Amino acid sequence: MALMTGEQYIESIRKMHMQVYMFGKKVESPVDDPILRPSLNSVRMTYDLAQMPEYEDLMTAVSPYTGERVNRFTHIHQSTDDLIKKVKMQRLLGQKTAACFQRCVGMDAFNAVFSTTYETDKKYGTSYHENFRKFMTYCQDNDLTVDGAMTDVKGDRSKAPHAQEDPDLFLRVVERRPDGIVVRGAKMHQTGALNSHEIIVMPTQSMKPEDKDYAVSFAVPMDTKGIYMIIGRQSCDTRKLENSDMDVGNAEFGGVEALTVFDDVFVPNDRIFLNGETEFAGVMVERFAGYHRQSYGGCKVGVGDVLIGAAAVAADYNGAAKASHIKDKLIEMTHLNETLYCCGIACSAEGHPTESGNYIIDLLLANVCKQNVTRFPYEIVRLAEDIAGGLMVTAPSEADFRDEKLGPVIDKYLRGVNTVSTENRLRIMRLIENMALGTAAVGYRTESMHGAGSPQAQRIMIARQGNLEHKKELAKKLAHITE
Ligand code: SF4
Ligand code: FE
Repeated sequence: MALMTGEQYIESIRKMHMQVYMFGKKVESPVDDPILRPSLNSVRMTYDLAQMPEYEDLMTAVSPYTGERVNRFTHIHQSTDDLIKKVKMQRLLGQKTAACFQRCVGMDAFNAVFSTTYETDKKYGTSYHENFRKFMTYCQDNDLTVDGAMTDVKGDRSKAPHAQEDPDLFLRVVERRPDGIVVRGAKMHQTGALNSHEIIVMPTQSMKPEDKDYAVSFAVPMDTKGIYMIIGRQSCDTRKLENSDMDVGNAEFGGVEALTVFDDVFVPNDRIFLNGETEFAGVMVERFAGYHRQSYGGCKVGVGDVLIGAAAVAADYNGAAKASHIKDKLIEMTHLNETLYCCGIACSAEGHPTESGNYIIDLLLANVCKQNVTRFPYEIVRLAEDIAGGLMVTAPSEADFRDEKLGPVIDKYLRGVNTVSTENRLRIMRLIENMALGTAAVGYRTESMHGAGSPQAQRIMIARQGNLEHKKELAKKLAHITE
């Protein structure tokens, strides 16, 4: 079975025995929980679109390792064309869900671990690459969703992993056995962990030799003994319990994050991809971060498309669409959004092969991409709020709108242009609210800031990759300076 249907995916997740906690209780059936379900639906879209002939070229690829057509989210990039298609696929999914569809972290981890294990084996004679290829083809054959877990909780930021007061604040190996290792720690902000079959763990930063036990990478099924998740709260999350799809804004799709705890989890030898080779921790991090910074030039652009569309609809319904400043604001939003897309496409087109043969993006351009993502969505949201007007945060609830006595009053006073129903006007306001300040704001705003690394992380990479010396030479030459 190379490709699962959306329904098969849902049922495959239902069969897993994941340990999920929320609001102080264990969630017995995460698949059916109204707060969690929209996030599962977003991942489902990666399966549904792959079944549609019109998206086959974007959503799938032929794996050179299995010879089968596989979902692109499990693919190892073979060319710059693959890298470009990845970004286009992410934009498409952002457009269809207006949320984080989560499956990219696994794809980005796949490609980072593929090349890093190859180079580690070359230096140390280890068999991590073979381990990884076996795992990767298993995921391709079964069309699995894989979470990519990098961010540790990190404790005191001024201290190295081994120097922390509590040694578990970075995930580490606590026991080495003949048949494998035992790991302990916690990964933060895990988007999609609860919707994944497997999890690839990677180190969170470069490491020195003293941090040997922390330089570890591996994959295990999400329902492995010792793994549990504590779901993060989102603004307006309990609105999903109120049975009002109107008030939620985007009732079908969403994203959810979890603090994912590894409480002495056993990892068998053939699932280990790094174990103490500290100098490769930084390489893995840099590559994963690079791929994920490219990703944001696709997914956030797709969500931006929906937000721009929503703002334009709001302008129509408000009767303001012809005002020149509204038109100009929509142009500005489009300009910012397409600039992000340019960055996503550019770092892909300028990609190159690694020693292992897979393709990697241009790291400087991928970091510029993500640096822009830390800013532009905020401006796009600001303009959407400007266009929508205050109603997006002051509208009465659906319950009031459906009320026999209050409903007609709301209908009368909150109508915009007469040909548009008040209900439709309220619905578009709620969708904007959802992306600007509701559950989807996690994905479109704060994740744009901190996801795939906070802004300063990109600035460090830009400084490293910017080749300032070359630029100085150019200037000196033209100024006829000899030193
Ligand atoms: Fe994919 Fe974007 Fe979500 Fe990352 S933030 S997993 S790139 S949708
Ligand atoms: Fe992300």
